Amino acid sequence: MIHLKNSAQITAMKDAGRITGEALLLARDAVRPGVTTYEIDHIIRRYIEKCGATPTFLGYGGFPASACVSINDEVIHGIPSKNRILKEGDIVKIDTGATYRGYVGDSARTIPVGKVSAQAEKLIQVTRDSFWKGLEAVRIGNRLGDVGHAIDSVVTANGFSTVKRYVGHGIGTDMHEPPDVPNYGTPGRGIRLCAGLTIAIEPMVNVGGEGVRELPDGWTVKTSDGSLSAHYENTVALTSDGVIVLTEVEKGF
Ligand code: MG
Ligand code: MG
Repeated sequence: MIHLKNSAQITAMKDAGRITGEALLLARDAVRPGVTTYEIDHIIRRYIEKCGATPTFLGYGGFPASACVSINDEVIHGIPSKNRILKEGDIVKIDTGATYRGYVGDSARTIPVGKVSAQAEKLIQVTRDSFWKGLEAVRIGNRLGDVGHAIDSVVTANGFSTVKRYVGHGIGTDMHEPPDVPNYGTPGRGIRLCAGLTIAIEPMVNVGGEGVRELPDGWTVKTSDGSLSAHYENTVALTSDGVIVLTEVEKGF
């Protein structure tokens, strides 16, 4: 069952979203060669807790950190570690969430470490663009398939592949609520979008094929062919006045 939110609940979700977005900004500013993924996680955790919020990821399903930090061909769910050191040319995906006054924000970005290849830059840009194209389809009366189709169209038009095995999701008092929000779809199909819908839209895009595999650590997901992957996620709310991107705190990021 989909939990539609009233305006007071959406207002409450704005705080969780803002804290999540601000934590990601701090993490971005810390990304540079020589920094460990553990340090990135630490910065995020410290900020979320300073805001009086709880790091949603910490302990979620047994996850041991406050952020998923995934490098290059790692798609999602990378475990922060003192042994993983960012180096020039890497791309790093940082995915985190904050719970504040009972509501959750969930957001992810892909950040270049120093100077990256033209292909990596394009991948990051296309992944971000696919989110915003999908967001244009988040309108009352549209269907979820319209959103997924818009995302996938941007990805395939640029010669990349959309990950199908992992999808976005409804969000509210729980990080993962119905419905699933796939990054692909058929126009005119799927549930009808209505005011009060709060979802996390999160395209995961591979340079090579769409195939992914989970590592023996039980978390980290990599591309099957070793190609680069990017991720971009925001928590959004659909209201009668339009769509609100709850986790966006800086335009263009
Ligand atoms: Mg996320
Ligand atoms: Mg998510």
